Amino acid sequence: MALCPVIGKLASKRVVLASASPRRQEILHCAGLRFEVMPSRFKETLDKASFSTPYEYAMETAKQKALEVANRMIVKDFRPPDVVIGADTIVTVDGLILEKPTDKQDAYNMLSRLNGKVHSVFTGVAIVHCSNKDKQLETEVFEFYEETKVKFSDLSEELLWEYIHSGEPMDKAGGYGIQALGGMLVEYVHGDFLNVVGFPLNHFCKKLVELYYPPPKDAIHHVKHDSIPSVETFEVLSDEEYGSSNSTQQNATGKLEDDNAFCSGVTGSLGKKEISQEVMGEPLVKCSGNMENLTKFPSTLIELLDGFKASKAMFVASKLKVFDLLKDKAILKAKDVADRINASVCGTERLLDSCTALELLKKTNQGYSNTESADKYLVSDSEHSLHGYIIHSNDHIWPLFTHLESAVKEGTNQNHQVLGKKAQDLFQDSYYHSMETKLRFMRAMHSIIKLTARDVATAFDLSRFRSACDLGGCTGALAHVLIQEYPNLKVNVFDLPNVIENVSCFQPTGQDNSRITFTSGDFFKDDIPEADLYILSRVLHDWPDDKIDTLLRKISDLCKPGCALLIAEIVLGEEKIDPPRAVLQSLSMTEGKQRSNSEYKQLLEKYGFTQVQTKITGNFLDAILAFKKITCVVN
Ligand code: SAM
Repeated sequence: MALCPVIGKLASKRVVLASASPRRQEILHCAGLRFEVMPSRFKETLDKASFSTPYEYAMETAKQKALEVANRMIVKDFRPPDVVIGADTIVTVDGLILEKPTDKQDAYNMLSRLNGKVHSVFTGVAIVHCSNKDKQLETEVFEFYEETKVKFSDLSEELLWEYIHSGEPMDKAGGYGIQALGGMLVEYVHGDFLNVVGFPLNHFCKKLVELYYPPPKDAIHHVKHDSIPSVETFEVLSDEEYGSSNSTQQNATGKLEDDNAFCSGVTGSLGKKEISQEVMGEPLVKCSGNMENLTKFPSTLIELLDGFKASKAMFVASKLKVFDLLKDKAILKAKDVADRINASVCGTERLLDSCTALELLKKTNQGYSNTESADKYLVSDSEHSLHGYIIHSNDHIWPLFTHLESAVKEGTNQNHQVLGKKAQDLFQDSYYHSMETKLRFMRAMHSIIKLTARDVATAFDLSRFRSACDLGGCTGALAHVLIQEYPNLKVNVFDLPNVIENVSCFQPTGQDNSRITFTSGDFFKDDIPEADLYILSRVLHDWPDDKIDTLLRKISDLCKPGCALLIAEIVLGEEKIDPPRAVLQSLSMTEGKQRSNSEYKQLLEKYGFTQVQTKITGNFLDAILAFKKITCVVN
């Protein structure tokens, strides 16, 4: 990614964002910055009247927010952060500074002031560099601000109140959120849109360039540091190159004496340099070496290279139930965790530190605790737990991937290597041969479908259907969401006998499950129940064409005109190279394959379905809905 090098400059540093704003977090996260979030407790009570301009107020507030966090983090033996980022966004109109509304009336007053007018949005940003000298915090503060002009349309009272009642204005400066419903109020924006959202990313990157890549004193000046360098320019930026760029010197002959110099303004330390010409009196330093020799830090590659270590650390911590031990805000020292999981202290400490580096855990002088996402997704009995999927990935997918080389050479999956015997039908033969593997598989399916079921169930309006049959519906997790979303729908979950006999432990309690039935059978050999809507969630990708032919023919024969088939799968891009998750999954798949939108359309039309619609949900699975044609001829 183009911006990686400049953002990557912070990669080795402990960066803390002193803001609770999810919008700021998202902007920085999307830019590839790795950071911790520690919302500032600084009370935004600075006397506005004491500032001659609104942006000075925003910058000072940003600075105070960041300093409060830096000071809090350095107490006792905390490892101090290297960089704390603070930000404060304000809206100004008619000489007034508007922050977040205190209540609906305040929101109304603010929005009425903005109505039909141009106003300014200022974000003050403070980048605080921290160091710990004898347990004393030393800071160096760099500040800047960004202004964006926004014009509101003329809005009716009714619309303003409707917007206020949506609840959106309450946590936003000026009482609106341009990135969501509030976007409808805005006629135009002059300047950085993200600044209005809450963080001026472009200016931030420029500031980083200024801080971390200062132009060398006597070298050329045609790289403007008030702008973000071009992609090529970034590509030749690296830590080593700039670590001592200021030490570049020219000798009397014009030759450079060390390797830490710019080449065409910016280049690597390994590129050989010589002064080749002068432009407008300024020496132009040019590479005479091979550009490929330039030292770059291939951060994306390194991340890929190390990716398996990160996965395995998470798998092992999950398997050892580390996140379960730390649930409910528990804080434990490495020794206590080691005792509880029956492991060595040094090994446990390394694992806990790795999980901290991966932002799965937090580490303080009191001990280790779960991050929010570990609590939500890694604790084994949490509502959205991915534990089942992680254990399946560790115990089944990981061994398959260790045989990837053979899989590529032989063109087959390596289930036989992992399971110890060749499986004709993975679901019926080896895979379900033991209760343990069967349940492990069901837990894996259950955890993924639970996470994605609502998006699949609501991708299309299914309220016209009265009965659905979820073929290969496993634990019934999708069925539960469907009956919640559609009060008139009954769902029959159809799966193999050895699955259906184990579904009881997956049923949610305290919910009326009377509209769900479970039927056991083999969808290739047995009759399948009649329904208005058939569902195939993560079934088609498992099977070769002849099996799919049997299944879709069967469904097509039973499906009456006007009835439909809903498919939940990852839909590939037409080039079949994205999304990467799906493409990588294909590497370990059975005889089946992932398909693109046009391939699903073609397949469904072949079996008499029409009006094929696809919804890319942004979740694990996408959804495809197709209706049975009035008359159908299967080729
Ligand atoms: N639909 C679930 C989901 O999306 O999480 C489970 C998908 S899982 C990949 C495939 C399911 O199809 C498993 O539950 C498996 O038991 C079931 N299945 C495989 N072969 C089957 C068959 N011949 N008849 C009925 N169900 C079958």
